[in-house]
Amino acid sequence: MKIKMMLPALTEAKSPFWRPVKYSLFPPLGLATLAAYCSTEDEISLQDEHVEELNTADEPDLVIIQVYITNAFRAYALAGIYRKKGAYVCLGGLHVSSLPGEAIVHADSVFIGPGEDIFPAFLKDYKNGCPAKIYTNNKRNIEDIPPIRRDLIKRHLYLVPNSIVVSRGSPHHCNFCYKDAFFEGGKSFYTQKVDAALSEIDRLPGKHLYFLDDHLLGNQRFASALFEGMKGMNRVFQGASTLDAILRGNLIEEAAKAGLRSVFVGFETLSPSNLLQSNKKQNLGRNYEEAVKRLHDLGIMINGSFVFGLDCDDKDVFKRTVDWAVNCGLTTATFHILTPYPGTRLFQSMEQEERILHHNWALYDTRQVVYKTRGLTATQLKKGYDWAYSSFYRWGNIAKASSRHDQIRHMIKHFAYAGGWKKFEPLWNFMIKTKGLNKMLPLLETILSNAKTKKNDSIATPFPAIA
Ligand code: SF4
Repeated sequence: MKIKMMLPALTEAKSPFWRPVKYSLFPPLGLATLAAYCSTEDEISLQDEHVEELNTADEPDLVIIQVYITNAFRAYALAGIYRKKGAYVCLGGLHVSSLPGEAIVHADSVFIGPGEDIFPAFLKDYKNGCPAKIYTNNKRNIEDIPPIRRDLIKRHLYLVPNSIVVSRGSPHHCNFCYKDAFFEGGKSFYTQKVDAALSEIDRLPGKHLYFLDDHLLGNQRFASALFEGMKGMNRVFQGASTLDAILRGNLIEEAAKAGLRSVFVGFETLSPSNLLQSNKKQNLGRNYEEAVKRLHDLGIMINGSFVFGLDCDDKDVFKRTVDWAVNCGLTTATFHILTPYPGTRLFQSMEQEERILHHNWALYDTRQVVYKTRGLTATQLKKGYDWAYSSFYRWGNIAKASSRHDQIRHMIKHFAYAGGWKKFEPLWNFMIKTKGLNKMLPLLETILSNAKTKKNDSIATPFPAIA
């Protein structure tokens, strides 16, 4: 059987205003995970429109399309093309799970929730000639999933081909997050077996890994055993954690010993009222600066995530947030305009209050204002968001944030990482165009590897602290 698996491009990835490198980081692991359930006799083609032109001249029997909110219209159009040719088309992913009624119009079958468990059930039904319209995952178990079909991934097209996921979901329930909608009706946080995760790591070549788990430190026992098993594997890795997990116990020290060199942290807002409104209880009452210091003392760089447009934000929120992030020495920052994704509690409450402006999902990219704001006008919000990005990544602010570390090697690492990531767009574009993006990986590994803590390091700053 000929099977085509596709990740259509997110609309923002194709916009002339956005950065191609941001969309060439990670391969579509979800599809490669599902491919592992197919027969070895199946002929599978896996295409990711972020890094290659889609070939729609082929004639597959079965088409599987992963749908996010901003690629939904593109996904539906592609589904139409293949259904016209007589292929059987399945849609799955976050957006389909949030709005199955919308997606089903464009598909022969839809998958609701995570694909493990339901995809093999679908394949069995399909081969027996009796596939159902809707498959819903209630089982939630990834303990015995087969090894991901990484052979289908075109590694050279990605900066970070060694991305890996060892859990699903997270233990928290933030109102703006897709998580509860996606995992509705069953467990919303579960992990692989530690041995299976370590085997998956072992199969990956090179040194660098990027854990795409929502919360790598979310299950203390699992994470602790994982980090213990990773010691001696000579890896450097990046991942995500919540603030409270960073502050609790000594898990973060174990992660650092295993090779954690940079962490994505959802600070989201500096306002307790906004945290309450977002049900982001895990951040409430936590000392953000203490978490930052703890990470920096371990040589772990921080990518801070922030949301603008929550109801208690005012026009000063942008400067307040950027100043805080720079003064704390965050290496990178990801800013978002609050976006009410369908299926979330935020969307429900905004819809009840008639604050949703439209359902043009292509604009739900966290860079546009799609709801009626409070405390700020839509223009102030959009302008403030754009200003926050440009201000945080000014050379002066990169240097100032770098100077906040107390070891010279961390200052240099910070400066190289933030500057390299944000200030060399033509180089990134050239590497993407020449299909050599993966050649930049050794440089990334070198920057991340340079993190040994030395008590006698000079604390002099090589960069002027710019006020
Ligand atoms: S902690 Fe992160 S992944 Fe978990 S619910 Fe909140 S935003 Fe979502």
